[in-house]
Amino acid sequence: MKKPKLATIWLDGCSGCHMSFLDIDDRIIELAGRIDIVYSPIVDTKVFPEDVDITLVEGSVSNEEDLHKIKMVRSRTKILIALGDCAVTDNIPSMRNPYGPEATLRRAYIENTAKKPKIPNEVIPKLLDIVRPVNKVVKVDYHIPGCPPPANAIYDVITELLDNKTPEPIKMTRFGK
Ligand code: SF4
Repeated sequence: MKKPKLATIWLDGCSGCHMSFLDIDDRIIELAGRIDIVYSPIVDTKVFPEDVDITLVEGSVSNEEDLHKIKMVRSRTKILIALGDCAVTDNIPSMRNPYGPEATLRRAYIENTAKKPKIPNEVIPKLLDIVRPVNKVVKVDYHIPGCPPPANAIYDVITELLDNKTPEPIKMTRFGK
């Protein structure tokens, strides 16, 4: 029997949520026997595949690349999980929202730089006007809050889904939607 396909992606986040995923320690060996990790920063796959069963999304939607990626991932994923507070509430990346993208870039690349201050006009993707949590951009099936979310919570949600159980969804209203 084919194993369910699991993916993880990283938008505007610090990688701490992925570190917490790895903190499930040797239980990842058990999980590896039950799932195929088809796309993730922890595996060497370049293209997000079609028909993924479960995708964990770390980080908020902050730039045009994030926006394109989350829409593509949603269209190719059965169950989308917002992993961690940046994905769930927009958390730390949204601290720039009151100032706007131009002031944010000026602060990072001009005011806080001693050598060759210059706002890059290539390589980095264009910032969106405001940072948004994943559920404000696409439909999210489950949230795993926390900064970072506890490893046990990540493991429990994945194994409950693999066991065809329904994990307790975190109420969207809690986050103002
Ligand atoms: S929720 Fe916390 S640990 Fe996860 S990406 Fe955001 S800042 Fe990092």
